[in-house]
Amino acid sequence: MSNLEAMSPDPSQTADSASNRPAGLPADPSDPVAPDPAAIASGAAANDTIFGRILRGEIPCDAMYADDLCLAFRDVNPQAPVHVLVIPREALVNLADAGRQHRELLGHLLLVAAKVARQEGLEGWRTVINSGAEAGQTVFHLHVHVIGGRPLAWPPG
Ligand code: AMP
Repeated sequence: MSNLEAMSPDPSQTADSASNRPAGLPADPSDPVAPDPAAIASGAAANDTIFGRILRGEIPCDAMYADDLCLAFRDVNPQAPVHVLVIPREALVNLADAGRQHRELLGHLLLVAAKVARQEGLEGWRTVINSGAEAGQTVFHLHVHVIGGRPLAWPPG
């Protein structure tokens, strides 16, 4: 399977058929895009977190990639030279909120995370998903941190 095929979301997980794909999104979701506001907001999740507001186009973000399942944008408080967040359009709270129906979506988020890391020229990077306040989650809309561009210590704090 090629990378391009690997990036294509399962149609059963896609909210809209190809015929009513939101304007501004690429026909092939593996294509890198510089999302315009319409693409960011299209098919947006509706929840009351700051990420929900970003998805609805109510507040700006430094977007790097968008497709009909997710959005990737730069973290406003970067912890490394590259710090990107990949979020689903669906308003999942965190992994504790995910079920079997989210398997394809979760896989897609990780593939997009790797794609964004490669786009940024990273050879190694860390992906982090904080689930719950005890783990450091502060925005309760699931997100994958993609962090790189400097040596990263282990174990994390
Ligand atoms: P977490 O602590 O895992 O919930 O991560 C939330 C992340 O969201 C933090 O790294 C914040 O810096 C980041 N963040 C919060 N608000 C924004 C925003 N408006 N744009 C981009 N990143 C944000």
